[in-house]
Amino acid sequence: MYQLEPIGYIHSCFKEKFTIPRQPLLAPAATGVIELLAPYNQSEALAGLEQISHLWLLFIFHQTMQDKPRLKVRPPRLGGNKSLGVFATRSTFRPNNIGQSVVKLEKIVDNQLFISGIDLLDGTPIIDIKPYVPYADIVTEATNNIAPKPPKTIQVIWTTQALKQAKQHEERLQKPLQTLIEQCLSQDPKPAYQQPEPTREYGTLFWDVNVKWHYPDLNTIEVLVVSHQLTN
Ligand code: SAH
Repeated sequence: MYQLEPIGYIHSCFKEKFTIPRQPLLAPAATGVIELLAPYNQSEALAGLEQISHLWLLFIFHQTMQDKPRLKVRPPRLGGNKSLGVFATRSTFRPNNIGQSVVKLEKIVDNQLFISGIDLLDGTPIIDIKPYVPYADIVTEATNNIAPKPPKTIQVIWTTQALKQAKQHEERLQKPLQTLIEQCLSQDPKPAYQQPEPTREYGTLFWDVNVKWHYPDLNTIEVLVVSHQLTN
């Protein structure tokens, strides 16, 4: 048995799993901050990182932990109705629940790492951080016939009201909220098998902002409301 202790936790724009892109770097406007725990929250542990643009994060899928191991999983990419061996997928249901993502290191302030392009849920425990090493990590001849291309994107449009609201919250939060919403919703978060009626509303939370949308047709998302989620 090995025991893992988190070295830190991420504060992320993603408060719910639903609209998180399926891989990192698909939404460059998705940002977060890694707050390191002692003894790693000091400059000794971070020396040299300013020379590195991208990091590998190793983390725990803490919200999908399961007792029973799964040998087969149904990746959303294949419509959720075809199963594959767990090791052929990036499913979050996996032995030891370990996730890995390449993210961009934006800056380091007070020993906190500001990162972007993330696909991690808020509060995710981080278990290690390694530098991305382009000469070794880029494999130009690599192929993957299950996921040969990035997922197809969908058009995102706004009602006048929702866009105005988004701009107001963007100003308040000082974060690129409109772009974040567009980048994440254009990944079409709904399960591939759903064919929603235009009357069906979907919603999620980015930072402290509730976003509601619908599908006026199956190739378009229209953002309807962007409102402040008040905590109680
Ligand atoms: N890049 C990672 C993650 C791929 S799966 C890897 O390859 O290992 C991406 C999904 O992980 C996202 O859609 C999100 O819903 C889910 N996710 C992110 N953080 C999570 C967490 N802490 N617990 C459970 N699921 C999480």
